[in-house]
Amino acid sequence: MPQRVAIVSGAARGIGAAIATRLAADGLRVGVLDLTADHCADTVRTITAAGGQAVALGADVSDEASVAAAVDLLDQELGAPTVVVNNAGITRDNLLFKMSVEDWDAVLGVHLRGAFLLTRAVQGHMIDAGWGRIVNLSSISALGNRGQTNYSAAKAGIQGFTKTLAIELGKFGITANAIAPGFIATDMTAATAERIGIPFEDYQAAAAAEIPVQRVGRPEDIAHTASFLVSEGAGFVSGQVVYVAGGPKN
Ligand code: NAP
Repeated sequence: MPQRVAIVSGAARGIGAAIATRLAADGLRVGVLDLTADHCADTVRTITAAGGQAVALGADVSDEASVAAAVDLLDQELGAPTVVVNNAGITRDNLLFKMSVEDWDAVLGVHLRGAFLLTRAVQGHMIDAGWGRIVNLSSISALGNRGQTNYSAAKAGIQGFTKTLAIELGKFGITANAIAPGFIATDMTAATAERIGIPFEDYQAAAAAEIPVQRVGRPEDIAHTASFLVSEGAGFVSGQVVYVAGGPKN
């Protein structure tokens, strides 16, 4: 089996860093993509210190030219990517009547346009290889969440995007699946706690009380699921949305 090359967006920290590190531990070479290459240094260092191979890629996923350049650089440095994890994300929460056009466009731009651009840039390599794995980060917010019309629309859009990729690309040996995390303790949820004025510990405790397994999620919980979906043995799992939320969601 060839050594696979993956590209993980938003991999400087949080869930993306955990996924990049896990895929490297699984034996893949990893392109660690975030807004700047400098941002990616910690993740690359963690991977290489553990004996893995990684390269830092600076790109804004919503910018077509910089996405194409990042994929080309990865191809030159570590080989052609046949695994893509669309993880880069932002929140710009507000109630609808206060939601600005800028905040709507920014969120849709990173999550949906970004996933489209990066997947499109990589899919030719997957088709050449006759094998590929696409993993897209959705969210339980896809089911609706107060203050997140932009984010929930993007995360629901990711699910339709993923299912359509599975239909179009299956005949080339490519699977596409989405992971929909529940509450995961990262800078993103810490920023939400700060915005609404609640200490992060209290915010996590309140969330955990509502979760059947009685704890919040960790980036490693999502990395574990991504590892499975990327694995060689998961070739018959496609077009699925896996809720990783400590309990049932639908
Ligand atoms: P995070 O800690 O905020 O990390 C997001 C990463 O994405 C950051 O490194 C950020 O870079 C990068 N990024 C943002 N815009 C980008 C762009 N245009 N191009 C390239 N990189 C960009 O978030 P997280 O909590 O790990 O979330 C990761 C993914 O999981 C997101 O898609 C999020 O929506 C989803 N998710 C998270 C949760 C949760 O509870 N945390 C739940 C459900 C779904 P900077 O550091 O430069 O900002």
